[in-house]
Amino acid sequence: MINEKIAIVGTPCQILAASKINYYEKETGGSPIDLKIGLFCMENFSYTYLKMFLKEKNMNLNDVKEFRIENNKFKVFLEDSVQEFSIPQTNSFKRKNCDICTDYTSNLADISVGSVGSPKGYSTVIIRNEKGDKIVQDLISNNLVSEIYAEENALDLLKKISNKKINNNLKNIKNRENNSHPVIYKRKVSDNEITELSNECQFDCLNSDVISEGACVLCGACEFVCPIDIIQINERKPVKKGTCKEGCHACYYACPRTFINDKILPKDLDIKPLGEYLKIYSLKSNNNTGQDGGIVSEILLYLLDKELADSVFIVGEDADNPWKPIPKLTSSKDEVLKAKGTKYSTVPIIFKSKLFRKQ
Ligand SMILES: Cc1cc2nc3c(=O)[nH]c(=O)nc-3n(C[C@H](O)[C@H](O)[C@H](O)COP(=O)(O)OP(=O)(O)OC[C@H]3O[C@@H](n4cnc5c(N)ncnc54)[C@H](O)[C@@H]3O)c2cc1C
Ligand code: SF4
Ligand code: SF4
Ligand code: SF4
Repeated sequence: MINEKIAIVGTPCQILAASKINYYEKETGGSPIDLKIGLFCMENFSYTYLKMFLKEKNMNLNDVKEFRIENNKFKVFLEDSVQEFSIPQTNSFKRKNCDICTDYTSNLADISVGSVGSPKGYSTVIIRNEKGDKIVQDLISNNLVSEIYAEENALDLLKKISNKKINNNLKNIKNRENNSHPVIYKRKVSDNEITELSNECQFDCLNSDVISEGACVLCGACEFVCPIDIIQINERKPVKKGTCKEGCHACYYACPRTFINDKILPKDLDIKPLGEYLKIYSLKSNNNTGQDGGIVSEILLYLLDKELADSVFIVGEDADNPWKPIPKLTSSKDEVLKAKGTKYSTVPIIFKSKLFRKQ
């Protein structure tokens, strides 16, 4: 691994994948991910099915200025109108694996950011550790961001929404398990059991335990850690193109939907809707706009400016396919600014790039 520091932005499942890769460094080869900025996330959409849905409603992705989920509605902003859909209407393009996810606020990130809990134009920022706190304190003291008081009732709403996700999806997990469809990442297992079970598993087990069970979040961690590059991720799922290396179990260890011990993901987080945290802020950037307060982009620019990260992973947009997310490792501030805004579709983030892995 080259000596480089990377910051990533991702949904809670992607942040979990990054945490697992680094925790099981011996088995996976690790990564240079040094700072994790997690987004709040209720669900994610399939790009193909979202496109089909919009076509049925006589809309074209080329004409969409912005997508936004607010006040229990999925909103599509066009040049001079806004189309609104109820959340159940998004079921036709929602990824089904999201039904078994119980993390709303990116519990394992250093800093978590979302819109719920703050007024329009501001981001709710949850600081989870000293490292995250130092960065945000610097942004405030350098006048790069403005802070307003995080209202108690807005935070209550955030907790309520998070609890709703946790409770609904715990029920879905129970149903899947009762119907012989394993959700193994939520099972209670000891370190020894994890080692014993995972050391018997290669890609074929990952396929039967996660991918075929509709639990794959398409994070790309398996593809990233494969030492012989035989995993490829297409629009729908990871596939293996070759024969596994003897004694390798890297993909099974890295996957956020295989066994996870309590040290990586404490099970009691399911009764803490906002996870473990030090502080919560409502912030907006003083220099840039963004999906909400532009805080994610402001943090990334700060990290590059102060050389706290050599490069950052962002999710930009495909030049030929509007709103199709494209992951990118960059040290360009222009590219960070271009990537602002939310693309509500899954993409194997960070991991797609092998730029920083030793060949
Ligand atoms: C799939 C998804 C679902 C979300 N659901 C909720 C929700 O239910 N409630 C809520 O409060 N907030 C949700 N968010 C977060 C919210 O939309 C904003 O991303 C967040 O508030 C940060 O806003 P900002 O203005 O600070 O970010 P900006 O400064 O606009 O930066 C946005 C950053 O997000 C990254 N990004 C964009 N799309 C993706 C993607 N698909 N995957 C990974 N990274 C991406 C970009 O690289 C960019 O750096 C969701 C985000 C995503 C991607
Ligand atoms: S599994 Fe779905 S709901 Fe959970 S964090 Fe990932 S994209 Fe969001
Ligand atoms: S060699 Fe096989 S077991 Fe190892 S990471 Fe690649 S696909 Fe997985
Ligand atoms: S199978 Fe691969 S892409 Fe899917 S969740 Fe697991 S690591 Fe991520």
